[in-house]
Amino acid sequence: MVTAPVPVPVVAGSFAIPLRLRFRATTLRRGLLVRGPEGWGEFSPFPEYGPELTRYWRAAAEEAATRPWPEPVRTSIPVNVTVPACDPERAHAIAADSGCTTAKVKVGEGDDLGRVLAVRDALGREGRIRLDVNAGWDLDEAVRQIRRLAAAGLEYVEQPVAGVQDMARLRRRVDVPLAADELIRLSPDPLHLDLSEAADVAVLKVQPLGGVWRAVQIAEAIGLPAVVSSAVETSVGIAAGLALAAVLPELPYACGLATVLLLEGDVVADPLIPVNGCIEVRRPAPDPAAMARWAPSEAETEAGLRRWAAAGEPAG
Ligand SMILES: [Mg+2]
Repeated sequence: MVTAPVPVPVVAGSFAIPLRLRFRATTLRRGLLVRGPEGWGEFSPFPEYGPELTRYWRAAAEEAATRPWPEPVRTSIPVNVTVPACDPERAHAIAADSGCTTAKVKVGEGDDLGRVLAVRDALGREGRIRLDVNAGWDLDEAVRQIRRLAAAGLEYVEQPVAGVQDMARLRRRVDVPLAADELIRLSPDPLHLDLSEAADVAVLKVQPLGGVWRAVQIAEAIGLPAVVSSAVETSVGIAAGLALAAVLPELPYACGLATVLLLEGDVVADPLIPVNGCIEVRRPAPDPAAMARWAPSEAETEAGLRRWAAAGEPAG
């Protein structure tokens, strides 16, 4: 019997792209690009992550290169602009220039209220503002801060506190809906998470969740309205996020996929950036000139390849 060979992706590129503003304590996004019969995939785990987490990121890249994504049910995805923890003037400009009517504002650092009010001013009364705290507050601080910042009008607050029990306690103490991100992304078993008391919205990210197909299963298992967000990827990684957002049966919120705007550049010639608050569902291929521009040193590429290899080792 003749069986078809299992397609294997090959690493075909490496990038290091500076961020316009510091984000998540990093100033540079590094990663590898892999290629297979289905197209390109991105492997860009955050620098502090070990193999127990990076194996999901690798699985997402392998899937993108070797397995067709599910059939889309929509062709355009509404997106939010992401505002880093910057000063209010900068925040105003980022929100105003984006063309988006929804903004996600990072808080928990610096002049949070000034930043949020600046974004409210930029978007006007009709605009939607959500906050992301990256689990930076404890329960009492979260209650205080959310009550204070709610004056600006909030759509929801993403992961204000870390644990599932604190999220549930907080949810009973504030009026603003809560979204779970780290709770899902860092869970050892996101397919069996009970967030019914802890969150109103589920934030889903393709690379940390091990690919589009698995993220779809996780969305179904969690059963909350979903927001697809990026892990601050190039357009190769964003394309996988768009594929996930395009296949979810319901998409009641703008997605966090406009993050190419946070980077100094991209590996494609026609980046996935928003036009009038939406990104078209498509999958641009890397451009050789752009890849050459953002190629890191050989030593950095070697380090990336070691992470890729470690992520492919059997768990345990
Ligand atoms: Mg988040």
